[in-house]
Formats: sequence, C-alpha cells, structure tokens
Amino acid sequence: MLYCSKCHTLYENGTTCSNCNEPLTEPKSGNLVLLTAAMYAESNEILDAFRARGIYIDRNPTIEEGVFELFVQYADWEKANETLHIVLEDLKKRAPFNVEETTDQDKEKKELSKGKKWALRIIGAIAFGLAIWGVIALTDLVIAFVKGWFA
Ligand SMILES: [Zn+2]
Repeated sequence: MLYCSKCHTLYENGTTCSNCNEPLTEPKSGNLVLLTAAMYAESNEILDAFRARGIYIDRNPTIEEGVFELFVQYADWEKANETLHIVLEDLKKRAPFNVEETTDQDKEKKELSKGKKWALRIIGAIAFGLAIWGVIALTDLVIAFVKGWFA
C-alpha cells in the first residue's frame, strides 16, 4: 500500500497522488487514512460501530454540506474496512439510507417505472380524447332531440 500524506488516501500502486500530485510514501501504522465519506446520520452509525469495536475513528466535515469524511489509522485498515462493510450491510437492510450506489436492478426498476409513466400518459390522452368525443356525440344527440321538438 502507498499513501498520500496530504489527502490521507491509500493507493495500491503508483508514484504520485492522482488527487494532489504529492509523492506517495509507505504508510506508517499511525497515519490517518481516509476510510469513506458519509452523510451525517450514516456517519453516526459508522462511528458507533467503530467505537463499540474499539477502533479509532475520526470524523471531519467536508466542503460539501452534510457530508463527512471518516479517517482511521493505517494499523486498523483491514479491521476498519471489515467493520465498515458490516455497518453498510446493516444500514442497507434497514434503509432509508441510500448507502450503495444504484445497482443495475434499481436502474431496471427505474426504467420500468418510466415505461409505466408513459403508458399512463398515453392512457390519459386516450381517455381525454374519448371524453371529448363523448361530449360532442352527446351534444349532437341533444341538438337532434331539441330539433325534434320544433319539427
Ligand atoms: Zn494527495
């Protein structure tokens, strides 16, 4: 593993940080490493789980409002990722947090609902057309009926 001491990011390989161009170094066990970014409520859950397991974790706000970055010590990297995975799985089960990025299945669902929306629009348009046709037909009938009186 290689480490950017400026961004606190770990890299599998490379010589410089792709974010800030700082030369990468071997991480030391005490180095703070960026674990993940999370929304406030989500980060609370992560913090709780880490504290329960006795893993050091640090939370810092980012420039994006409501988004926090979580840092762990490099010595805890493996354990931290394991714990994070457990917390995220748990959050996913409990929803309403959207922890995971949209999966293909979700995309399919969205496509489907888009199709449904179009179907509804078309049905709506047909119904509207039928309603207008009905009114015209009815008016003709009434006119014919009224004309009948004066004939
Ligand atoms: Zn960097």
